[in-house]
Amino acid sequence: MGIHAIALAIGCSRQELSFKLGDLCLCGRRVTRLNDQQLLRYSRQILLPQIGIEGQERLFAAKVLIIGLGGLGSPVALYLAAAGVGELLLADFDCVDVSNLQRQIIHSSQDHGKLKVDSAADTLRQLNPEVKVERIAQAMAGTQLQQAVAHADLVMDCSDNFATRFAVNQACALAQKPLISAAVIRMEGQLGVFWPGRSDSPCYRCLYPEGEEGGESCSQTGILASLPGVLGCLQATEALKLLAGLAVPIGQVVLFDALSSQWRMVRLPKDPACPICSDHAWSAP
Ligand SMILES: [Zn+2]
Repeated sequence: MGIHAIALAIGCSRQELSFKLGDLCLCGRRVTRLNDQQLLRYSRQILLPQIGIEGQERLFAAKVLIIGLGGLGSPVALYLAAAGVGELLLADFDCVDVSNLQRQIIHSSQDHGKLKVDSAADTLRQLNPEVKVERIAQAMAGTQLQQAVAHADLVMDCSDNFATRFAVNQACALAQKPLISAAVIRMEGQLGVFWPGRSDSPCYRCLYPEGEEGGESCSQTGILASLPGVLGCLQATEALKLLAGLAVPIGQVVLFDALSSQWRMVRLPKDPACPICSDHAWSAP
């Protein structure tokens, strides 16, 4: 399919498309490695002036580690694959249970009993065969976690417990990799973008000093089906912006209360006594 067909598909003339994609090779000013099928597939995104060909190429070149293929990891993996992120590294040791299906939309009824990374990889292959998908069917800790984080350009924490979140935060701090972390419970959710190495960025440990975290889980308290979808989509949105080179909200936490339909943005200063990210209190994993 040629550029003319792409122009037809998105409802404009070839000249208009050439103008909108002004940095495309059509004009002889810049060569892109994207073929016509890719230009068509991602055309709605490429047409955004903030993304363009350059942003799409950045997404193609990106490697993202997704920790947890549950309620948050489902929309995160689906949208990053759909958007054309080049490589997704999926990490989850668990298998699909029937009680997951109310909110973990990357899995289906026929996946019951399968490893979540296998079930998710199958779904992503159907959605976008161009995306390279790697699987880690183990709990993420120690050397395994450090190696996976080191391989990635960006880490998405979609896990469901504080021990994993703290370990992931520490590994990201050590490897100086950006981390987008979200959490949901009952009818509440939160999201934070952390970028170790940036002077203005706190870390996840700054949000929860040791001993102040809660120990509740969805299996104990319940969770509204669509809530991880809301926060997971927000997480994926910040990921696409970050990978495409756009500004992301570092140093603030987004809080969503589904019951009252209220959003709040809370500034999160760097904790000068943080054992992970402060200048004088580094603790290696
Ligand atoms: Zn910190």
